[in-house]
Amino acid sequence: MATQYQLPFQLADSSLVHFDSCVGDKWVGAKSGQRFEVLDPGTDKAWASCPANSADDVPAAAETAHAAFEQYRKVNPRQRAKWLLKWYELTVAARDDLAQIITHETGKPLAEAYGELEYSLGFLWWFTGEAERIHGSVSVPAAPNRRLFTIKQPIGVAAALVPWNFPVAMVLRKVGAALAAGCTIVVKPSPETPVSSLVLAELAQRAGIPAGVFNVLTTDLENTPALSEALCKHPLVKKVTFTGSTRVGKLVATHCAQGLKKLTLELGGNCPFIVFDDANLDQALDQLMTLKWRHAGQACITANRIYVQAGIYDRFAALLKERTAAIVVGHGASAGTTMGPLTTPRGIDKASAQVEDARRRGADVLLGGKPLTSRPGYFFEPTILSGMTADMQISHEESFAPIAALYRFETEDEAVQLANATSMGLASYAFTKNIDRMWRLLENLEAGMIGMNTGNQSAAEAPFGGIKESGYGKESGKEVAVNEYLVTKTGTLTIE
Ligand code: NAD
Repeated sequence: MATQYQLPFQLADSSLVHFDSCVGDKWVGAKSGQRFEVLDPGTDKAWASCPANSADDVPAAAETAHAAFEQYRKVNPRQRAKWLLKWYELTVAARDDLAQIITHETGKPLAEAYGELEYSLGFLWWFTGEAERIHGSVSVPAAPNRRLFTIKQPIGVAAALVPWNFPVAMVLRKVGAALAAGCTIVVKPSPETPVSSLVLAELAQRAGIPAGVFNVLTTDLENTPALSEALCKHPLVKKVTFTGSTRVGKLVATHCAQGLKKLTLELGGNCPFIVFDDANLDQALDQLMTLKWRHAGQACITANRIYVQAGIYDRFAALLKERTAAIVVGHGASAGTTMGPLTTPRGIDKASAQVEDARRRGADVLLGGKPLTSRPGYFFEPTILSGMTADMQISHEESFAPIAALYRFETEDEAVQLANATSMGLASYAFTKNIDRMWRLLENLEAGMIGMNTGNQSAAEAPFGGIKESGYGKESGKEVAVNEYLVTKTGTLTIE
């Protein structure tokens, strides 16, 4: 069904875009006929509509993916790699159109949308290689006439529930691994960002990936809980991969528990960023400027709590304020914009409440602190809070907004204790020139990923994932990511 909306941007290839779900080789609406609007966070205007699928639409998608799996599992891994490579090439060629779509779905500036695509393409490239590197093992014989070995096989149909903040990267990180392993998949994108997933499905079809291997079921906020639950519980779905908040991740785990489904959870952050007196200040500031303000603070690995040692605290705060004041807030597609809006109006309410809470408990607002109401869209001022303390909301929950919260500390032990005082454990960052300290921090900080003198630490070739309530399982990286979509069988053979 064609959308009734006029796209607010030009596409080089308009046949890339569909506004219906992708099940097998068909573009389909919801059984109920219901649709929902896709909004541009930079204008609050609808620019597309997609099917509001419900739990009733899940069986057809799961059965289609299962039928495709029966064929796809037998495909030679080299052929899978060839399809993935072709998909990679077509996605590279569609970069300009995809960047426009990402910007109009998420609000992020176009330059960041291109950055997301570069990062995303790394996953397709990486998993193209991994498709041919799935190995079993042979053990040393336990008895002279016994041989023990393992083989790895694709687990079956996977279901992916993905967030809106990196809508292409999060889809390709999951789908790339699943397809390399020999699984088929049903993706449920976020209600805010369905169109980019549908473009990826079109590109996958053009690449020759067989129908039913990669399916996309779109839905709105209202139908999301029931549809997600139905997907997790469907008997043909053998594996679930979820990226999103810890609250929903725990719900997903309960849905999967009944069927003992294999589950990967990439959940919330609340990441500490620690700057010691002996750090290279410019380096720390450069890294923080990108890490903190990228996508207006809406990244799971963003710096949520910034701990600065007392000797450099005031200087660091002043420099951060000076640099932050130069940020140009605007529509992501406008020339010169360096920060876009939040993706959802819910984000504005949460950010306002967190700033108010910090202010009430004694924090100083060095910059910003409120929504930008002078224009349509969901804009929040780049905000710096100083004098943060452990009792404030931001100390305990992700802000997911452009809020840099500064805490003063005195000693390394204190910094570690403060950094670890959270139920989350996704990423941590530390800046120091002392290599002994760096090593101690690597061992003592409770996080799945530690950035040392860098804020840039996610790459296709390294395992990505958290510990504690930031989830379990790894995406990307050698062997581990594809392994999430495989089962291991042990064979025992007696020979004469
Ligand atoms: P979210 O938990 O609200 O949604 C994630 C996905 O779950 C979406 O597809 C959403 O539609 C779906 N969902 C929402 N409510 C549901 C329900 N009741 N039952 C089943 N599914 C439901 O998260 P979000 O707001 O889209 O994304 C932001 C969160 O994601 C942040 O907490 C962020 O840290 C986290 N995140 C983590 C990573 C990571 O790799 N660890 C990456 C990106 C984002």
